Amino acid sequence: MTILLDDWKRTHFTKNINEKLVDEEIVVMGWIHEIRDLGGIIFIVLRDKDGKIQITAPTKKIDAELVEQIRNFKKESVIAIKGIVQSSNKAPNGVEIIPGAIKILNESNQPLPMDPTNKTNAEIDTRLDNRFIDLRRENISSIFKIKSQMLHSVRMFFEENGFLEVNTPKLVASATEGGTELFPITYFEREAFLGQSPQLYKQILMSAGFERIFEIAQIFRAEEHDTLRHLNETISIDMESSFMTDKDVMEILEKLVNKVLVDIISKGNQHLKILDVDLKLSQCPFPVVTYDKAIDIINSKGVQIEWGEDLSRAAEKVLGEEYKNYYFLTEWPTEIKPFYVMPNKKDPTKSHAFDLMYGDLEISSGAMRVHEHDLLKEKIAEKGLNPDSFDNYLKAFAYGMPPHSGWGLGVDRFNMTLTSLKNIRETVLFPRDRRRLTP
Ligand code: ATP
Ligand code: MG
Repeated sequence: MTILLDDWKRTHFTKNINEKLVDEEIVVMGWIHEIRDLGGIIFIVLRDKDGKIQITAPTKKIDAELVEQIRNFKKESVIAIKGIVQSSNKAPNGVEIIPGAIKILNESNQPLPMDPTNKTNAEIDTRLDNRFIDLRRENISSIFKIKSQMLHSVRMFFEENGFLEVNTPKLVASATEGGTELFPITYFEREAFLGQSPQLYKQILMSAGFERIFEIAQIFRAEEHDTLRHLNETISIDMESSFMTDKDVMEILEKLVNKVLVDIISKGNQHLKILDVDLKLSQCPFPVVTYDKAIDIINSKGVQIEWGEDLSRAAEKVLGEEYKNYYFLTEWPTEIKPFYVMPNKKDPTKSHAFDLMYGDLEISSGAMRVHEHDLLKEKIAEKGLNPDSFDNYLKAFAYGMPPHSGWGLGVDRFNMTLTSLKNIRETVLFPRDRRRLTP
């Protein structure tokens, strides 16, 4: 039987029910979190998006049909309750509801595929297979409430600083920068790819005169990663700014990270508490470690690395022991950075590229870019790529391209640092990795 809401309207969310409503009739809606039948009294805990409320049914005092209905309740069914608010020193929030009428809007099957009441911690695969139930747990939904707060702060920050939000295509004709594996797709009679980064479009928009832009969007990486920090689909916050150097955009990044920390510590505190995370503001300015210095530190701890190599996982771990919070790694070798990175004028073996790290985790990469057409064309060829396939990109550099810099910040990795999570899969609603394409 289909039960509809009809003329029932929710009057309150659980978080808004308090002493001021005592003796008032209200309507709440949500899931049956728990039921305890003590014979003379039945306690029900109703859960909605922000919290829980106790429903207390004294079996002798309320309608017999209602008691019968409550006795048949199944956990996690969706219900609506009309009832009177009553103060109670035993109820967790000082008030409870005495039910007058109930609608069972949809009954849940039993047994449940996993326990949503936090009492048992299932394996990550069981949790992800049953994500709709896993997300009913408040410590899990808190991760996404913090992420939403982070994205809100990011948008506010960019708006306050005169940046325009843009959207660039994710269906692309060819590899943007080389170096990364792409997912091929069929695009009518042609082959196309899923975008690995908005890099080239961000730069074209500098020539278009937007000067300050940002984008928050999906990026796709086809590497067969099997780590706790890589997914094949992730979200990147990308920014690009004209008339700024690498130092300028590092300052923007540092300010942005700090704004997010301040906002989450002040406004998202209840979610941090649920997660048992003691988030702290960061020391400012962030330490700046040159690549040369990083190599010295790494070698001094017995991990072998040659100048010019990318950092191995073992090397990142050594740095993470030394610097536990946010820090920049700068002056990367030009050789291991993409073609669009500006080499250092005095020593072209070094570049104006930087990474933002948090302990042993890379969370952002950025650089001052090459804005001069001929140098850029040369650098594309040096990387073994065909400049002809970059025609549409290169064209934008020949008719008034300003100097510019920018970065890409991984949303899911950034969220790992805010929530102290070790597995990136935890911070994504429906993660995509080598083995997982559903749900
Ligand atoms: P890594 O060396 O850790 O694989 P990367 O240098 O290949 O990362 P970039 O191309 O610099 O990554 O991308 C910018 C940011 O996007 C990274 O610093 C990271 O935060 C995020 N990112 C990139 N690839 C992934 C991925 N596969 N999964 C999750 N986040 C990613
Ligand atoms: Mg990087």
